[in-house]
This record gives sequence, C-alpha cells and structure tokens, in this order.
Amino acid sequence: MGEFDLIAKYFKRPTRRAILGVGDDCALIAPTAGMHMAISTDMLVEGRHFVSTVSPERLGHKALAVNLSDLAACGAKPVAFTLALSMPRVDTVFLDGFSRGLLALADAHGIELIGGDTTAGPLTISITVMGEVPPGAALRRDAARAGDELWVSHPLPSGPLQTDPLTSAGAMSLGDARLALEVFRGHITLPGDAFERVRQRMDVPEPRVALGQALRGVAHAAIDLSDGLVGDLQHVLTASKVGATVHVDALPRSDIMAAQPVALQRLCLLAGGDDYELLFTAPVACHAAVLAAAQRGGVAVTCIGSLDAAPGLRLVDAKGHAVAQDDAAFDHFKA
Ligand code: ADP
Ligand code: MG
Repeated sequence: MGEFDLIAKYFKRPTRRAILGVGDDCALIAPTAGMHMAISTDMLVEGRHFVSTVSPERLGHKALAVNLSDLAACGAKPVAFTLALSMPRVDTVFLDGFSRGLLALADAHGIELIGGDTTAGPLTISITVMGEVPPGAALRRDAARAGDELWVSHPLPSGPLQTDPLTSAGAMSLGDARLALEVFRGHITLPGDAFERVRQRMDVPEPRVALGQALRGVAHAAIDLSDGLVGDLQHVLTASKVGATVHVDALPRSDIMAAQPVALQRLCLLAGGDDYELLFTAPVACHAAVLAAAQRGGVAVTCIGSLDAAPGLRLVDAKGHAVAQDDAAFDHFKA
C-alpha cells in the first residue's frame, strides 16, 4: 500500500466542522469569531514514551490524549488536530488498531483529524492539537498567587458497574502509571489484576478537558501532570514567582499504591510521570467553586497544599515534618 492509499484508508474521513480536511496542501478551519486559538504539539517516540508491546489501539488513544491534556491545562476547547506519523513499514494491523484508538478519542471530544504527514522511519507519532479559549480566559503557568490553594485532579471511584466488593475496583490515582513502569522495569511485581489496572492508567490516560474548561474564571494557574508532580509544580512556581507547601500525605492514591512501601509511594506520587491529571491553583474564596467545577468536569479533585510568597517548594508529611525532595530517598527505584 502506498502513502496516499494508506492516508485515504486510515486517516481520511468526511469533514464536518473543517472547511477542508485531509487531501489538499493545507487544511482550512473557520475559527470562532473573537476566540483565541490554543495550539500544542506532543511527540511520542517508541522506547522513550511507550513500550513496543503496547496495543496499537491504546497507542492511538494515548497519542491524542497527551495532546488534549495540554489543551485541558489551558482551559481550551479542542477543535481539530494534525498527525505526523513515522513508521518502519506499512503494517496494516498496526494502522488499523492505531487509527481506531486515535479516532475514537477524537470522536469522543468532537474533533477532527484535518491533516498531517506520513513517512518511513522509526515509530514516532507527533500530533498538533488546536483549541479555542475566550480572550483572557486561558489558564496559564504564570498566574499562581501566594495564598492560593493547590489542587490536583484524579479519577472518581469506578461507577455502579462494579457492585461486588471482591471484584470492585477502587479509584485509580496519582502515580499509578509510574507503578506500571516500575513493573515493566522489573523493579517490583504486582498481582495480575492490579498490574492490569495500573497499566491502564499508563496506556489509556483520560485528558481532563471538561475540568479544564470548567476551571476558567475559577483557577488561577494550571499545568497538566506529564513529568511528575514535583517537577511540573516547579514550572508553575518558577513562572509565577511564588513558592508552595505540599502535604505529601494528602496526595490521593489508589488502594494499590497505598499497599506499597512508603519510599516507593513517594517516588510514584511525587516524581512519577504520565498521570495526565491537572495540577492547579485557585483562591481560597473559590474552594466551593473548584469542587463544583470538578463535578461538572466529571472528576475528583483534592486540595494538596498552598502557595506561599516565599520561593521554593516545601514537602511536609501529616505531622508537619519536612519530606526529602531529592531523588536520593528513592535511589533504589531509579532506572
Ligand atoms: P504535501 O506533500 O503537500 O505536504 P502530503 O502528500 O504529505 O502533502 O499529504 C497529502 C495529504 O494527506 C495532506 O492533506 C496531508 O495533510 C494529509 N496527510 C498526510 N499524512 C497524514 C496523516 N498521517 N494523517 C492525516 N492526514 C495526513
Ligand atoms: Mg508531506
């Protein structure tokens, strides 16, 4: 199959919102009058961002999900995306699953694939998403203020489908994706069911798009958690020129996480990547409004600390004792 047949078979669909989609030199989209465009690109490289054994369908989902997560962090509404795909050879089983997972998530968010590029090379997926946000309403990294509360999103407990306490899955949460990575690295083992659940957090992140939009006008600053809570929070603190205190024992965690040794829990919760939850700050006066936004966004949120005028990040445990931040405490689990 040639390049153009491949594009036509797997990636070209009738356009709905776009004026011109896949197949011409450029795509054309009509921006909503008066709105600002939010644009973000994320690349996934085999071996670095995903393991080669991941199912193509999950990979398609994740490639778009991590991009939508960036729009979510800005409070933007997704509009369209492009896909640049490099792959070693035309593998129809891969393309079938990949396009299915990718386009299913696109449909779930009502957005269209409007163009891209396809070439032979190492398996690499680069997506650019475009979204819209009213002028002045975008959530930004540089907008946190001293006195703000610090919040993080996390999944609600599984719905009413599971009523049998023996099989019922408790809520998954922060750091679970990192737990899966630790299993892949051979550092820990988990029983099959627990592994499947943490692996799902790694492979099938749900971008918090509805929450991001619900937080417009409520939250000050926001960022999505892709590289680990401490590192991502530092970006907000640096950009906003403020400090923070984080209550480590208040970080939401799954039952699987809570059963791990404390050092491993802290590694996963504080430094684990791939969570794709939103970390955001909001004035104390907006506490109830944040909870209402979370309800509209269909997720749970937990207040995990506060922003201080004094620069720097302070991690404290439930007794108020300082928790070491350097990776030394977690060295045993380092790659
Ligand atoms: P050009 O050479 O003019 O850049 P291409 O031949 O690379 O165009 O691509 C043909 C059309 O297919 C373009 O509209 C392009 O946006 C689209 N396209 C290429 N690869 C992909 C892909 N992986 N997904 C979606 N659209 C794609
Ligand atoms: Mg091209």
